Amino acid sequence: MAKGNLFVVTAPSGAGKTTLVAALLAADQNVQLSVSFTTRAPRPGEVDGKDYHFVAREVFEKMILNGDFLEHAEVYGNYYGTSQTWINHAIDTGSDILLEIDWQGAAQVRRLFPEVVGLFVLPPSVEVLEQRLKNRGKDSDEVIERRMAAAKEEISHVEEFDYVIVNEHIDEAVRDIVSAVRAERLKLHRQSTRHQVLISSLKAG
Ligand code: 5GP
Repeated sequence: MAKGNLFVVTAPSGAGKTTLVAALLAADQNVQLSVSFTTRAPRPGEVDGKDYHFVAREVFEKMILNGDFLEHAEVYGNYYGTSQTWINHAIDTGSDILLEIDWQGAAQVRRLFPEVVGLFVLPPSVEVLEQRLKNRGKDSDEVIERRMAAAKEEISHVEEFDYVIVNEHIDEAVRDIVSAVRAERLKLHRQSTRHQVLISSLKAG
């Protein structure tokens, strides 16, 4: 069986990544989202096991020691990590997996899976980014300021990714991310594994 593809999507907070990812998952049934573990408290409306696996710091630290994570990082004072076991199983059974992680996590994954495909989402301007962070109304001014600084840091890593999606108009950005995933699946090295029998039979005539 052909193995699944691994995608990472990275963006500064406020770029609209969550909306884009939800639209991608709705448009493409072959993509499964990896649910990360985190020590951050759930935001209103977030569901344990769906948005994140919410765990205590001690539990997360034990999981690090057990080698349970493919990658993990500390972001804004909280731990975030991707389960190694789940990813390996999903990829081996042919599913395409999407990791929604920060640039540090993407860099760790790239070292372990050099074939990973990186998608980066940018806001259309600094002003729009700032406005989007303020409109959320979920975080304090201090958190927003920290996130603006972190956004600059995150964006400084854009060159490490394969596809760049500028999220100015959501419909267009959704088409872009769906197209990037489809384009990757059509690459010769992936198609020649998936369609080995077809290609051999067509060549043999
Ligand atoms: P938030 O708290 O807003 O949900 O996420 C904060 C940041 O943590 C985002 O940049 C998000 O991409 C990142 N993040 C979420 N899950 C993971 C993960 O499993 N690993 C890493 N490295 N970053 C993650």
